[in-house]
Amino acid sequence: MGRRDDTARRDEIASALTAVRARLEAACRDAGRDPAEVTLLPVTKFFPASDVRILYDLGCRGFGESREPEASTKIAEFRADSGVVDAVLWHMIGRLQRNKVKSVVRWADMVHSLDSVRLADALDASVGAARDAGTRSGPLEVLLQVSLDTDPARGGVAVAGVDALAAHVAASPNLVLRGLMSVPPLDSDPDEAFGRLAVVQAGVLRDHPDATVLSAGMTGDLEAAIRHGSTCVRVGTAILGRRPIISE
Ligand SMILES: *Cc1c(COP(=O)(O)O)cnc(C)c1O
Repeated sequence: MGRRDDTARRDEIASALTAVRARLEAACRDAGRDPAEVTLLPVTKFFPASDVRILYDLGCRGFGESREPEASTKIAEFRADSGVVDAVLWHMIGRLQRNKVKSVVRWADMVHSLDSVRLADALDASVGAARDAGTRSGPLEVLLQVSLDTDPARGGVAVAGVDALAAHVAASPNLVLRGLMSVPPLDSDPDEAFGRLAVVQAGVLRDHPDATVLSAGMTGDLEAAIRHGSTCVRVGTAILGRRPIISE
């Protein structure tokens, strides 16, 4: 992009980000919550490293990505361009296939989409290997993706399986259970869905009091998620604009 385009894009993102932050604060106020309890995680999938750089310059320090190899390529480009490595946390929020685990553990600080024992074991082994090889220093923080759906194709562990998976992750040496994530079913009432999620979270917190993260809410439903205790809203469209439509 030319210099004038860069400035136009920067202005566009800056005003969108300001609007989303205002929305988030209003939602917290309406829910009687402290805005400091809720992290805004910009979702940068489909958008270039130059947009990540703009968000970084606007103060963002964590980003959500969902696809490989797009994420690996973009993160390498962002690091080369900005010189920033440690000050940014990268979140893998999308469905994770086991054949992508090895590349994802090279960049992900947190995975939001852990939904099976098999995936937990693959991540644990890969993080262990990366630590042994010196390509990664710490364990991997994970959230269990909870399905509030009857459609298993959309990902997530069924509510009935959450406790067993949480126990399994807690016993995995290279994983740290930080909480839960969910995406409400299509065409559902988000208040009803996030209400159910809050009940699941209360159950998990009894056995895992440090698993306090609740990753819930996106562009269309962040107010409902905040009403039900979200501590991390993942927002793409409202910050960066519409993505091309593809099936993920
Ligand atoms: C893409 C994506 C988002 C962002 O959704 P928007 O509606 O664009 O805000 C949030 N969470 C997950 C898991 C995603 O894949």
